[in-house]
Amino acid sequence: MPTNLFDLTGRVAVVTGGNKGLGKAMARGFAEAGADIVIASRHEAELKDSLDSILAGTGRRGAYCVADVSVREDIKKLARFALDKMGKVDILVNNAGMNAPQAIDAITDETWDRVLEVNLTSVMALTRELVPQMKERRWGRVVHISSIMAQVSKEKRNVYSATKAALIGMAKASALDLGPFGVTVNCIAPGPFLTDMPMSVLSDPEKQAFADRTALGRWAQPHELVGPALMLCSEAGSYVTGQVLFVDGGYLAR
Ligand code: NAP
Repeated sequence: MPTNLFDLTGRVAVVTGGNKGLGKAMARGFAEAGADIVIASRHEAELKDSLDSILAGTGRRGAYCVADVSVREDIKKLARFALDKMGKVDILVNNAGMNAPQAIDAITDETWDRVLEVNLTSVMALTRELVPQMKERRWGRVVHISSIMAQVSKEKRNVYSATKAALIGMAKASALDLGPFGVTVNCIAPGPFLTDMPMSVLSDPEKQAFADRTALGRWAQPHELVGPALMLCSEAGSYVTGQVLFVDGGYLAR
């Protein structure tokens, strides 16, 4: 039994959307725990700066890959890049996501297709690329970032809630596929976290309402997702698979 159950020394982690928000916080947490890191998103300058601050003072290796997860070729490129650069990938956090609120009678086909591609199909596609080499080594950790909006919802969150709920179903099936190979698959379902995404789509009263519904009475800081992510991605989570970990400050308790 390792002395530190949360130690990631010798592991390689890929975090999509690792240039900001929750992805950046988790990537930093993984580097501090000893993992080498690959982050990916669409914006090179941001990736470069973020990778520097993710690795700063950790002594870990890292790389970034410019990739639009809605483009199937970019997904293949990202998987190849990570494996070429690092030699293996032990931990995959499918974190990149988007929200484009539209009421059910106003959803455009373009919005529906795009959100599905970014939030759901890309997760299948990247997981499909990276699990074979985890299976070979008989160790792997896959985490999809779902949302409390998988369980409850809000006006105009039709496609967002649909994709975040679908991730949970997919994670359960994948957990069964991969369990025999020592690979766990789980979802983290965050509540209200202070990042660009919710800030850009919520009004001030809506932001207050989110805080008020939590038991803790406040929004979370991105670093508050690190502990839960580390648990699922380290030896600490060795017997946890096919689960959803709600990290919501008690939002769903009310
Ligand atoms: P954020 O700061 O806006 O980050 C979103 C990330 O996704 C960015 O890194 C963005 O990178 C990336 N991304 C979006 N579209 C992409 C694409 N087509 N290709 C590649 N990367 C793409 O928001 P966040 O809150 O950290 O969101 C991270 C995840 O947490 C999302 O899945 C979100 O649904 C989930 N979540 C967040 C909350 C919350 O309260 N914050 C609650 C529940 C769930 P680029 O724009 O540079 O490509």
